[in-house]
Parts: sequence; structure tokens; C-alpha cells
Amino acid sequence: MRAFSYVRAGSPAEAVSQYRPGAAYLGGGTNLVDLMRLGVAAPDHIVDVTRATSDTITEGDGELRVGAGVRNSDLANHPAVRERYPMLARAVLTGASGQIRNMATVGGNLLQRTRCPYFQDVTMACNKRTPGSGCQATEPGAETGNMAILGHSPDCVATHPSDMAVALAALGARVLVAGPDGERRVAMPGLHRLPDGRPDLDTVLAPGELITAIELPSPPPGRSTYRKVRERASFAFALVSLAAALDIGGDGQVRDCRLALGGVAHAPWRAQAAERAVLGLPASRETFASAADEELRAARPLPGTEYKVTLARNLIVSVLEELSR
Ligand SMILES: Cc1cc2nc3c(=O)[nH]c(=O)nc-3n(C[C@H](O)[C@H](O)[C@H](O)COP(=O)(O)OP(=O)(O)OC[C@H]3O[C@@H](n4cnc5c(N)ncnc54)[C@H](O)[C@@H]3O)c2cc1C
Repeated sequence: MRAFSYVRAGSPAEAVSQYRPGAAYLGGGTNLVDLMRLGVAAPDHIVDVTRATSDTITEGDGELRVGAGVRNSDLANHPAVRERYPMLARAVLTGASGQIRNMATVGGNLLQRTRCPYFQDVTMACNKRTPGSGCQATEPGAETGNMAILGHSPDCVATHPSDMAVALAALGARVLVAGPDGERRVAMPGLHRLPDGRPDLDTVLAPGELITAIELPSPPPGRSTYRKVRERASFAFALVSLAAALDIGGDGQVRDCRLALGGVAHAPWRAQAAERAVLGLPASRETFASAADEELRAARPLPGTEYKVTLARNLIVSVLEELSR
């Protein structure tokens, strides 16, 4: 591992002033330190932000403000999150393991890097790790099983790994950011980018911008949940996941619907075509199936990822049926 200097910042302003090109912010370290050990990340200066960002959750005006330093376990177990945002609590609890969730912070979770095996292996070509080096995952014979089916580019087919981010995209959360030019809010979805020609850029954040908090607007009406399909029951990233909220009127027709898919794209995928397709229609299996088809018309599976299209379709139908009961 490359030698690096370390400072612990006491406030967002101090963290931002300590940042310089080649530096990295450190949250719980559960992703960054792994990547440093693998040689994928090699910062020469670490700015520990666990005391620079709030570790509290506050309620006001029907909204919730979650400090970026809140640990994943504390977020998932907070009474207001469990009661009012069950989709978010469930998403966080499906991630990683109890020990990792105790360490991992909200800011770090959102900015964790892809689990694409070619990104994590420094002997392989990867445009995300080394721009211009190529994408091994698109070469014949590549292990493509967990790559993207939506929104990918010839330069990158990796998927975004965070379960929390998928729920935040469905909830329309806002990410508060502090940087050298002051503070701003970034709406979810919108924090994470699709790869296009710059897969090295995971998000719209500029170098040195620090996530300080997340704002959760009032929860969507109706019932909500998060379901994750994975290869084993814990310690596994999503093959496909779905954050969903559904509100049905007394006449049995859909009044409101929020859907975001995980495991299918370089960013959490808000399924807006499917959301629009169910509005005002009877809450039935047929409605949900044709809405899923509408969304997945845009899918471009690689050889080996065709199963994800079927999985995503079945997940949308099954979860919406569950919420409509
Ligand atoms: C075995 C294993 C299984 C896992 N399974 C899952 C899973 O199923 N689902 C899932 O969602 N996650 C999973 N994870 C990932 C885990 O959730 C992340 O490692 C964790 O959330 C990262 O948070 P952290 O605070 O430790 O981030 P760090 O490792 O400290 O940082 C991650 C990145 O965020 C940056 N950063 C940190 N804080 C800030 C901030 N406030 N502002 C700006 N930048 C910041 C860092 O510079 C770094 O680039 C798994 C991890 C492991 C090791």
C-alpha cells in the first residue's frame, strides 16, 4: 500500500480545506481501505470525516435529516426510519453484514465503488479505474453475470452497488454537499451518473465535495418495501433489487407509484416509464406486467445478463402485487 498522511477533520469546512488533489475522504473505511489494499485506490492523503459530519437523525416539517456520519445500523434501526420509510430501513438491512453496517457511514455508502471484478483487479483493463485502458468486461469470454442491462456504454458495463442509494432514489431524497464553492443540494436520482464516455466519474460531485447530510422528503403515500434478489441470503450484492411504493384508491386504481431498480445500471435506476404506466389503472397483475415491459423495453442485456431482464420484470410484478394486497 502506498504511504499516505492522515488527518481527522472536526467540521465540514475543515474537511474541505484539508482536501487536495490525490486525497480521499474516509468514512467507516469499509470500502476505501479494501480498495487501497487491492491497489485500486492510492490516495496520498486521507481526511477522516467521521467527526466532521453529523451522526444524528433529526425530524422536522414532516421530513427527516440524516447526517452523513450516521452509521448504516443506526439509520436502519431509527424508529422514524422504520416506521415512515420501511423501504429504506429494509434496503440498508439487506446490505453487507451487521459488523460492516456498524462501521459504514451514510456518506461512504452512497459513494462506495462498483464491485465489477475487472475494476477490482488491477491486472485487468478497466476504463473506470484507468481511463482509456478498455473494458475487459466487454471482451469475449468475460464474466458478465452481474453487469448492467440498462444505460451502459461501450466504455463501461459495471453496476452501482449501494442498496441504500436505490431506496433514496425512489424516495426522491436530497443529498447535501459542502465544497470549496459552498453548499448545494443534489436530488436523487441524479447523484450517480451513467457511464457514457466517462465511467471514471461515478457521480456528479466535483473533487473535494463532501456529503454532509441526506434530506428525506415526506414518505410517499401508500405502502412501500425493498426486495433484493441475490445469490445468498446475506453478505451479497444485488443481482436485481427493487424499492417500491404503491398507493391505491378506494376504486382500486393506482394513485401513486415509485419504483427504483438496483443491480441493473451504473446508477440506481428510477423506473419512471413503469411508474407512469400504472397511474390511473386497476392495480392488477396485468397492469404491473405491462408497466414492467414498458420500462424494460430499453434494456440491452449483454450475453450472460439476459436473465436480469426476466428477473427485473418478475420482481416489479411480484412486489407491486404484494403491495396491492
Ligand atoms: C463483504 C461486503 C459486503 C457488502 N455488501 C453490500 C451490500 O450488499 N449492499 C451494499 O449496499 N453495500 C454492501 N457493502 C458495501 C458497504 O455498504 C460499504 O463498504 C459501506 O457502506 C461504505 O461506507 P464507509 O463509510 O465505510 O465508506 P468508506 O469506505 O469510508 O468510503 C467509501 C467512499 O466514499 C468516500 N466518502 C466517505 N464519506 C464521504 C463523505 N461524507 N463525503 C464524500 N465522500 C465520502 C470515500 O472517499 C470513498 O471513496 C459490502 C461491503 C463488504 C465489505
